[in-house]
Amino acid sequence: MKKTVCVLLILCVAFAMCSLAACAKRQPDRSAYEISAVYDDGARTLTGTVNIDYFNDTDNEIGDLKFNVYGNAFREGAKIKPVSDAYKNRAFYAGQSFGKTEITNVENCAGWNLGGEDETLLTVNLIEPVYPGERTSLKIAFKSELALINHRLGVSERAINLGNFYPILCAYGKDGFIECPYYSCGDPFVSDCADYSVTIDMPEGYIAASSGKLVGENSNNGRKKCNYVLENARDFALVLSDEFVVSSKEEMGVEINCYSYTKESADEGLKRACDSLTYFSDKFGQYIYPTYSVVDTGFCYGGMEYPALSMISVGAGEDRDYTIVHETAHQWWYAMVGSDQLNAGWQDEGLAEYSTVMYFEERPEFGLTRAALVGAATKSYRAFFSVYSQLNGGCDTTMDRNLKDYSSDFEYNNVTYNKGMILFDTLRKTLGDDKFVGCLKDYFSTCCGKIAKTEDIIACFAKSGTDIEGLFASFIGGKIII
Ligand SMILES: [Zn+2]
Repeated sequence: MKKTVCVLLILCVAFAMCSLAACAKRQPDRSAYEISAVYDDGARTLTGTVNIDYFNDTDNEIGDLKFNVYGNAFREGAKIKPVSDAYKNRAFYAGQSFGKTEITNVENCAGWNLGGEDETLLTVNLIEPVYPGERTSLKIAFKSELALINHRLGVSERAINLGNFYPILCAYGKDGFIECPYYSCGDPFVSDCADYSVTIDMPEGYIAASSGKLVGENSNNGRKKCNYVLENARDFALVLSDEFVVSSKEEMGVEINCYSYTKESADEGLKRACDSLTYFSDKFGQYIYPTYSVVDTGFCYGGMEYPALSMISVGAGEDRDYTIVHETAHQWWYAMVGSDQLNAGWQDEGLAEYSTVMYFEERPEFGLTRAALVGAATKSYRAFFSVYSQLNGGCDTTMDRNLKDYSSDFEYNNVTYNKGMILFDTLRKTLGDDKFVGCLKDYFSTCCGKIAKTEDIIACFAKSGTDIEGLFASFIGGKIII
């Protein structure tokens, strides 16, 4: 009897412990942001706070945390210009305009300063170091003035673009936190996946497109507050407008939206967003976020990718379908599988371009065949090679270059987009269609949620063919003649 009671007691205690463990929500091994921001449309300011719950997933003791503060790149007197001369007219639609981001306070730290290469790096000295596997919390207050500019962050002609709008933790590389100066060439963003809760307070007439799923909304005194959540994403962006017309549809359990300015345009954009999102999910692996939004907005380039949100330039014109598909491909190659966009732009741009080729070659109604698209990229690349060789007596065609080492957008576009596309087409010809797609599936499943190194993508392809490393090396090292 006693023995029975003891066994029962042990079982009860064990059961209670298991239940408690099951009930306690395990915190994921990644950082979390809680962002609250107020947009003042009269003053064109965005004022907010970022509560960051930092998780140390490195092998090192961390004494300082570093954040990229991209908004300060738009200030008057910035050494590194956020827009190249070639795109100035498209960007500054109302003449030269500046913005800036001030850090107004950081709580729970020993000190902080905004510095780095061009005053876009916030360094926060912690009170105590954080050891691997441990967490610490900070509260950062910021105030941004937004420039009148068709760019990632600013008041564009049709909408308020809030891309890279808050201090974001630098990704941690082999030499510590990675500072990303806001070079005009390419996308100078490298960040690790984190969880987000974002609240935006805006004038009531505005509609917000965002990276997250809407979980709360209330209106008061002519203002509207919307709260969004997004898990396991490497950034969070919003676009606000009082002109948006929205079309939405659910596919694969994902709420897909297109924000445009007429019903017809929103419906057309939605069709392309849905079709490309389902195509890439089928081809590479399931899309992981609960929503996906394509947003027409004022933007000086064709488009811009953020997790679960793509900005599409209202000036994209007949390239709109192509741009939507390209930016949607970035959900796989940038958002879910990250890469070092500062030093290996070809890894996500080349793949986004090639994924776009794959999409259109299966849709003959567009007339964009694989041969035509790869042929156009080859022709453009050869023209670049010829012009640069004549001008400079030689042409650097290496692909593993820092963004600052490209002399022009023309050079960057040819080396990352066009040569990147040619690299993946050459791999496909070498391996055959099935193995090629199998490698991309493998790359996606292996590296989803991570920042994939160049070696990681090469390793996935090298499993399927001989001397694939040599092929990558000849392209990346600039040896191959195209
Ligand atoms: Zn791209």
